[in-house]
Amino acid sequence: MKVVENLSVIERKIQEACERSNRNREDIHIIAVTKYVSPERTIEAAEAGINHIGENRIEGLINKQQYVKEGPKWHFIGSLQTRKVKDVVDHVDYIHSLDRVSLAKEIQKRAKEQVPCFVQVNASGEESKHGLAPEEVIPFIHQLQEEGFDKILVVGLMTMAPFVEDETILRSCFQTMKSLQQEVMNLHIENAPCKELSMGMSNDFEIAIEEGSTYIRIGTALVGEDS
Ligand SMILES: *Cc1c(COP(=O)(O)O)cnc(C)c1O
Repeated sequence: MKVVENLSVIERKIQEACERSNRNREDIHIIAVTKYVSPERTIEAAEAGINHIGENRIEGLINKQQYVKEGPKWHFIGSLQTRKVKDVVDHVDYIHSLDRVSLAKEIQKRAKEQVPCFVQVNASGEESKHGLAPEEVIPFIHQLQEEGFDKILVVGLMTMAPFVEDETILRSCFQTMKSLQQEVMNLHIENAPCKELSMGMSNDFEIAIEEGSTYIRIGTALVGEDS
């Protein structure tokens, strides 16, 4: 399937989810996750009108940036090793995987300009998942503020929902995220506006939108799994 064709199916589902939940379509951004696919397929996505691209590995990100020159914003969505921060920090527009103070310190040290970051939350409590526990998020945000991490702008929170069909589990995970995001936003911390929610993937983006997502990260359903 062409990316434009997949995109039109996804677009319709987004609009329906917006209608069901009384939200504005403009508040939802699609990040095409291109980690499984070739640079050519990534170019196809950009030409289809995608203006956010997500990669979970630095090599993949830097490789694709050579092909897709102008236009898209680049999102680093994978878990980030501290020693690799220097390789990625000046190449990306957003980091979605801020989940510990040591990582924040390294970003603070290496970044030339302020980096928009999402704090990754393990909302489901699965052991295999990265991210802070929900109750750790507010203390973490306070710590960033108190210790003067001025190179980090917490634009929002990010999560990966458990890979389950059960809608109740997915909704409760996304609802936990939404209420945390509002809690952080209501702190009115200058470097943590926290207006955004990065959640929802190929299998659960409609539910994520209904529960307040503003950035959905879609790989398989949009660009496919290999090319
Ligand atoms: C791979 C990946 C996605 C996209 O997954 P799909 O199910 O293919 O849509 C989204 N977010 C993260 C963090 C990923 O690693």
